[in-house]
Amino acid sequence: MKTLTVSVVTPNGPVLEDEYEMVVCRAESGEIGIMPHHIPIVAPLSIAAVRLKKAGSEDKLAVNGGIMEVSSNKVSILAQSAEKPSDIDVERARKAKERAERRLQSNQDNIDKLRAELALQRAINRLDVSSK
Ligand code: ATP
Repeated sequence: MKTLTVSVVTPNGPVLEDEYEMVVCRAESGEIGIMPHHIPIVAPLSIAAVRLKKAGSEDKLAVNGGIMEVSSNKVSILAQSAEKPSDIDVERARKAKERAERRLQSNQDNIDKLRAELALQRAINRLDVSSK
């Protein structure tokens, strides 16, 4: 069975390093599937789930932006934050979602709206990844 090494690192330290058969992530240019021996690429990532497949099972991570590099049969993801489903505090994400939604409904300037929009995306991504 062909695999590739996946490493996910954030400013808080390593989140995951393991062998997988396929990685699916959302780059800013769209969804990318990486199989073993993929050509080298570097791509900025969106706030989205990274799906890691092996032996009929799938692991997921809630990844908050960052960058993915594929080289020498290794996928390296450097992200602002990345959480496994079991590490996600669902109540915290729900509160963050409500806070962001309240801000978006209020009359604040554009910069605050952008911040709120990104906070909303992070919260929705965490809720999606934590749900079965
Ligand atoms: P909050 O407003 O709840 O802090 P946030 O989206 O602003 O959410 P981030 O700045 O993306 O939070 O992340 C800060 C740190 O907190 C990171 O280490 C991230 O992994 C962690 N984190 C944020 N939200 C959660 C959550 N719901 N469950 C687990 N860890 C979280």
